[in-house]
Amino acid sequence: MYDVIIIGGGPAGITAGIYCKRANLKTIIFEKEAIGGQIASSPLVENFPGCKSISGAQLATNFLEQAEELGVEIEIEEVLEIIPGKINKVKTDFGEYESKVVIIATGSKYRLLGLPKEVDFIGKGIAFCTSCDGAFFKGKTVAVIGGGNSAVGNALYMANLCKKVYLIDICDHLICEKTLEAKLRSLDNVEIIQETGVKELLGDDELKGIKLTNDRVIDLDGMFISIGMVAQTDLVKDLVKLSPQKYIDSEDCTTEKNGIFVAGDCRTKNIRQLTTAVADGTTAAINAIKYIENYK
Ligand SMILES: Cc1cc2nc3c(=O)[nH]c(=O)nc-3n(C[C@H](O)[C@H](O)[C@H](O)COP(=O)(O)OP(=O)(O)OC[C@H]3O[C@@H](n4cnc5c(N)ncnc54)[C@H](O)[C@@H]3O)c2cc1C
Repeated sequence: MYDVIIIGGGPAGITAGIYCKRANLKTIIFEKEAIGGQIASSPLVENFPGCKSISGAQLATNFLEQAEELGVEIEIEEVLEIIPGKINKVKTDFGEYESKVVIIATGSKYRLLGLPKEVDFIGKGIAFCTSCDGAFFKGKTVAVIGGGNSAVGNALYMANLCKKVYLIDICDHLICEKTLEAKLRSLDNVEIIQETGVKELLGDDELKGIKLTNDRVIDLDGMFISIGMVAQTDLVKDLVKLSPQKYIDSEDCTTEKNGIFVAGDCRTKNIRQLTTAVADGTTAAINAIKYIENYK
């Protein structure tokens, strides 16, 4: 039996694994795709303290090496079911495991437009997070897709850096705070295009432009897709309380189930970044360590 099973090998899960293993707990991480989580697809990360400038792939490799060298077990298996109890049972596509504690660190994914080449262009012109990748487009022309608070906030952020910013929204009115909209509309380097979608992504190896649903073609250096995120919480929808947006409802990385903790982008929070994910990994792990100290 394991002391701790961690579901998800992103920054939150890896951090939790490092803390649990250093507390001498028998710890395993299950990851269904690749260690590193979302950050593995980022071309460059420059806001993670201690790493001035590092590719997401290298950061993911560093996560893996650090955890393995400490003795954290890591398996590429998808967790399909958790049966909670004093001893939790965790079923994967390869087997069944038992543990005193489960830490859910399954993350989230940015919602995509569903266009051909979109996935290939991530990190090659397509980005999601302006505080992560905005600086790479300084002085350039970008589009922000969406019309909510985060899209308009991202457009304002980029307008401060870029030569020209297009905000493209499918609706006939922006669904953001009015003060944000007024600020955006006052800027000379911003063009707001409404009731229009993106029909085609242009470029061979990287994004060079877009064709809109009205057939207008816009040359671009980059495009930020800001149409929301999807929490990866299907696995636990009948196990713990979810918010209306399907995030695990937790302020402090605990859940209403004893011995089940949560960390990272899959829980309710305002800011989803590397630093907030690793902070959660630490909190969940320390909660888990205390729980196991009192486990009878
Ligand atoms: C392109 C891109 C660039 C980014 N750039 C930056 C940046 O520069 N700086 C920054 O601070 N943040 C950046 N972010 C955000 C950052 O990557 C996330 O906030 C962070 O990765 C969240 O960590 P996490 O561990 O909570 O979740 P995730 O990274 O989402 O990891 C969750 C992991 O759980 C796995 N998983 C899910 N369900 C299961 C299951 N049932 N069984 C097994 N495994 C499962 C997933 O495959 C995934 O690997 C970026 C995000 C993207 C997409």
